Amino acid sequence: MTDVTMEKIVSLCKRRGFIYPGSEIYGGLSGTWDYGPLGVELKNNIKSLWWKMFVQEREDMYGMDAAILMHPKVWEASGHVVGFSDPLVECTKCKRRYRMDQVVSPPAGGCPECGGSFGEVRQFNMMFKTHIGAAEDEASISYLRPETAGGIFVNFKNVVDSFHPKLPFGIAQIGKAFRNEIAPRDFLFRVREMEQMEIEYFVRSEEWEKSFEDWRAECTRFIEMVGIPRASVHELEVPDGERAHYSRRTIDFEFDFPFGRKELLGLAYRTDFDLSAHAKASGVDISYLEEGGERIVPHVIEPSFGVDRTILALLVSAYTEDELGGEPRTYLKFNPAVAPVKAAVFPLLKNKPELVKKAREVYELLKLETRNSNLGAIAWDDNGNIGKRYRRQDEIGTPSCITIDFQTLEDNTVTVRDRDTGEQERFLVKEILSAIHGQ
Ligand code: ATP
Repeated sequence: MTDVTMEKIVSLCKRRGFIYPGSEIYGGLSGTWDYGPLGVELKNNIKSLWWKMFVQEREDMYGMDAAILMHPKVWEASGHVVGFSDPLVECTKCKRRYRMDQVVSPPAGGCPECGGSFGEVRQFNMMFKTHIGAAEDEASISYLRPETAGGIFVNFKNVVDSFHPKLPFGIAQIGKAFRNEIAPRDFLFRVREMEQMEIEYFVRSEEWEKSFEDWRAECTRFIEMVGIPRASVHELEVPDGERAHYSRRTIDFEFDFPFGRKELLGLAYRTDFDLSAHAKASGVDISYLEEGGERIVPHVIEPSFGVDRTILALLVSAYTEDELGGEPRTYLKFNPAVAPVKAAVFPLLKNKPELVKKAREVYELLKLETRNSNLGAIAWDDNGNIGKRYRRQDEIGTPSCITIDFQTLEDNTVTVRDRDTGEQERFLVKEILSAIHGQ
C-alpha cells in the first residue's frame, strides 16, 4: 500500500502546477494557497459536478451567487459577531499562539514548543473585519463572510417571491468564505480563505428528521461520485455542547487524512434560527405562506461542503506509488470525472511532420468535442520520449493518452493507453470519444 504523506502531496502539487503557497515570492502568507493551472481545473470539475448534481439535476433547488461583503447586521443577527470565536491561548515565554481546544497537552502542561506557561484563555472572533468606504470608523465596519450561508438566508424572500417554490426546497451557493483561523495548518485543510459549497434546504419543522436523513445519504452519494472511497469517510454525531450555536443536530463527515481523522464536510439542522433572527433584526416579514393561508418560518437542513478539503481528500485518495514495466512510478488515480486533464494527445515522433499533422487533427477534433460535450481539458505533448510523456500524464492523473503513430496514417487508428494498467488498445479515431468516456 502507498504510504501517503503530506510532504509528498504538497511537493507534487507544487512541482506539477496544482497548488502553490500563497504570495510565495514574498515568503508566503499563512493560511493561503494559490491554485495553479491544474489545480483550477480540478477545482472547477468538483464544483461543476456538485452544481450539476444538487442544482441542475433537481427540480427543488435554486442556485445563487451573493456578494461576499454583506451588511454587518447580517452577522450580528446570525450570532457570528458574538459567537463565532475560538479559544485562544498565548505562551507567556515564546508568545506562540494556539487554539486551546487543539493543543495536545492540557493548558496546565504548557506550551508544546518551549514548555512555557500559558496566559489567560480568551475568545478570538474569527471573522475578518474590513471597512466599507473612505471612513475607517465603527460605523463603516463590515466583514468578509465566514460562511456562504448568510447570503442564502437574506435572499430567501427574494427567491420565494420570484419562483413561488413549494416546500421543501433548497437554495445552493458556491463561493469564497474567510476565517481568521488562529492556527492555519495541514495544507488545504485549515486555511484562512476557502471555498464552500452550501445548501440551505427549507422544510416544515415536522419534516426535519426525514430531510436530515435524505441529505445524509446525498452527502455520501456526492463523496462517492467524486471518487473519495467510502471506507475513508466516517460519520461523527457531534455531541451536545460541541455544536455550532445555531445547530440542534450535526453530523460531521470525517476523512482519514494523513494527519488524522478530521472533518471533511458538515450536515447541520439549523432549525428556524437564521430566518427568525433575520426577520427580527431586519423587521422584514420573511415567513412562508402555506397554501392554506398559514404563515410559517421554515426550518433548515444544511449540508456544507468545503471545496478545499474535498480537493485534499481527493489528492490523498488518488496518490499512488506502484511499479509499471519494472520501473517505480507515482500517479494520481483520479476518477476521470474530476481529472484536470481528461486526455493527452501525442504524435509518436516530434520530427515527422506527417505524424504531427495527423496528431494535431485528432487534438483539434477532441477539443471541439470537449466544447460540445463538456468533457474537460485535453493536453498536447510532443516533448521527449513517449514513455516519459506517459509518466508525466500519470503523475497529474490523466486517465487516457492517445498516441498517433505510423499505423494511424494507414488505417486511421490510434493507441489509447490506460493510466492505471498502462495497457494500450487501438481504436478508430471516430471511436476515441467513447473509448475515453467509457474509462
Ligand atoms: P473545524 O471544526 O474543522 O474548524 P468547522 O466545524 O468550523 O470546521 P463548518 O463551520 O462546519 O466547519 O464549515 C463547513 C465546511 O467548511 C467544513 O466542513 C470544511 O469543509 C469547510 N471549512 C471550514 N473551515 C475551514 C478552513 N479553515 N479551511 C478549509 N475548509 C474549511
